[in-house]
Amino acid sequence: MSARTVLGVALLTLTLAIGRAQAAPPVEAPIAIAIHGGAGTIERAALGPDQRKAIEVDLARALEAGHSILREGGSSLDAVTAAVVVLEDSPYFNAGKGAVFNADGRIDLDAAVMVGSQQRAGAVAALTRVRNPVLAARAVMEQSPHVFMIGAGAQRFAREQGLAMVSPSYFRTEARWQQYLSARQRGREATALVPGVNPRPYGTVGAVAVDRQGEVAAATSTGGMTMKRYGRVGDVPVIGAGTWAEPGCAVSATGWGEFFIRSNAAHEICARVRLAGTPMPEAASQVVEGAIPRLGGDGGVIAIDAQGNIAMPYSSAGMYRGRISVDGARSIAIWAEGE
Ligand code: ASP
Repeated sequence: MSARTVLGVALLTLTLAIGRAQAAPPVEAPIAIAIHGGAGTIERAALGPDQRKAIEVDLARALEAGHSILREGGSSLDAVTAAVVVLEDSPYFNAGKGAVFNADGRIDLDAAVMVGSQQRAGAVAALTRVRNPVLAARAVMEQSPHVFMIGAGAQRFAREQGLAMVSPSYFRTEARWQQYLSARQRGREATALVPGVNPRPYGTVGAVAVDRQGEVAAATSTGGMTMKRYGRVGDVPVIGAGTWAEPGCAVSATGWGEFFIRSNAAHEICARVRLAGTPMPEAASQVVEGAIPRLGGDGGVIAIDAQGNIAMPYSSAGMYRGRISVDGARSIAIWAEGE
């Protein structure tokens, strides 16, 4: 072999080696996702096997919608949005189609999204015509200089953004209407509920996820509480109360919104991790099973950190929830795991 050929081969080998080094996949963070379909009084007797199956199927669909995005290298924001859209479109959860009625017999919808690294956030409240409120919240975050938009203005903005608009009757389901009629007959206002005495109808959907870049995100969507008063807004779109994300910590809540607002619950969990070094699952339990019940409220959260650790504590009778952990293990539960 001539000296020229040797040099040529050496150069070629070097070029291939550099090419391989460039093509090598970067070190990737583990991915994981958790979702909830609301916490509250979920009576075993009232939940027939067919309905339970249908609810579990939709929870599984939402998990898969989010996780498939993460598997393909998509963002946690895309994943939580996709998961929540599935749950909003399902008639079984109190968000989008199937949301609860307020004291006026109308449906008002709230939603929020938040991304950890830059603490970007978007929220909407009191929507009546936007098919997927979570998409409106995301549009506020991505397409406006604002964080929180409400009512007619938020709706106008959503329309301008080309989001699907529907008639308010689209959200109505017979089951929710009957729930409303019986609550009204009993003269029960949401604000008059007493923990442990009056059953609180479950509601709200949410998702938290971490993507291959280690970015966390949270999304939450709700119809609020049955018989809530006109104009009432709960914790879901209040950034820090029902929805929160910061670097390495994201939380989506469900429960008695007034108490989650008063304890700034979602932010409080991440603050305990950041400031006190409390492990995330412990911080979530401290707030959900300690601080909120101490004030008189109840509910639950799903929380995730950058390593994909997931916590799903609740202080209510049950919480629809599901997760796909970093090892790919899937689980869906309503009461204690395995029940
Ligand atoms: N947190 C919601 C609200 O208060 C309701 C729920 O999660 O059940 O609006």
